[in-house]
Amino acid sequence: AALRRTTLKLGMIPADGIGKEVLPAAQHVLQALGSSLPKLEFVPLLAGWEEFQRNGKALPDETVRCLKESCDAAMFGSVSSPSHKVAGYSSPIVALRKHLDLYANIRPVTSVPGLPGPRVNMVIVRENTECLYIKREELQTAADGTRIAFATRQISETASTRIGKMAFELALTRGKERETARNNGQEVLWKGKPKVTIVHKSNVLSVTDGLFRESVRAVKEGAAGRYDGIDMEEQLVDSMVYRMFREPEIFDVAVAPNLYGDIISDGAAALVGSLGLVPSINAGDSFIMGEPVHGSAPDIEGKNIANPIASIRSAALMLSSLGYIEQAAKINIAVDAVLAEGTYLTPDLGGKSSTTDVTEAILKKL
Ligand code: ATP
Ligand code: MG
Repeated sequence: AALRRTTLKLGMIPADGIGKEVLPAAQHVLQALGSSLPKLEFVPLLAGWEEFQRNGKALPDETVRCLKESCDAAMFGSVSSPSHKVAGYSSPIVALRKHLDLYANIRPVTSVPGLPGPRVNMVIVRENTECLYIKREELQTAADGTRIAFATRQISETASTRIGKMAFELALTRGKERETARNNGQEVLWKGKPKVTIVHKSNVLSVTDGLFRESVRAVKEGAAGRYDGIDMEEQLVDSMVYRMFREPEIFDVAVAPNLYGDIISDGAAALVGSLGLVPSINAGDSFIMGEPVHGSAPDIEGKNIANPIASIRSAALMLSSLGYIEQAAKINIAVDAVLAEGTYLTPDLGGKSSTTDVTEAILKKL
């Protein structure tokens, strides 16, 4: 599909805080890829807490309509959340995931050559629509008059199967990316076959986690050989955390239900030095939205010191999901080179450079 496009129309939603500083950086980097991509058309779109304060809507209908009807993919910056509950306000990012059926959150965790920390190059595929996050909670009064709270956890075969499929497809793509990197003479950390690790706790939650595990396993078994080149293993979520911190280099693709995925993705991000480095995409079967993992960082907003790399790497991730694997690799090579040189680093990485300096340095490498 990637090869047939003549234009690529991208919705750009900077939203709040440093999102407005780091999203333009990603746009410049995409533009710098020039003729190796279809003609790029960027459409600026509104959303966020600031937009809510201006016009009373955190996610204008026009934004949703444009994304659904005419964009090929999108990039999101970050949203601020009010410190107290505000009537009528709810997070536009959660709403966008629903509108666009972005049922997976994909978060690669990649160590930086030259920075201290373990060597890691893994990706976490988190189911994003169910599990405990269906928010079916109930407060009751127990027989002795004390309160007791319950939450319902939903795990469906449909959601588990589609997230499993996404994990195996990603394992295939990563295999191809490593091949491209090897051909470019780059050192590749992961030497073995692609691997999918299923994260669950079915020894205790045998019905819910049992169904998740079984559904993901069935994806490989039912794929008529498509995933034969991929190893499959399982980790109980507690042991997953332990091993991720002890020996993160043993993981390639990890797939998890919503809650475990949420926790292990933030934990894994801590392995690589700064939130300002960690990208993600929200993905469904027909749409991709890149989004840096960090929030709106009100403490550094407007100072031109936010690290743009999470946002730039999110653009690369979006490209590779659209099938532009070599173009994505070019971006990551340029970013790695700037990080390895260490001349242009933002303060979160111990440097003194601005958002625009770091972006310029990456553009030069491109
Ligand atoms: P929000 O409620 O929007 O998530 P927050 O206060 O939790 O806001 P985060 O964006 O989650 O802020 O950031 C947590 C910390 O990491 C902050 O101190 C912030 O300055 C820092 N940080 C986040 N993103 C970046 C970035 N891109 N560059 C540098 N520092 C960052
Ligand atoms: Mg935050």
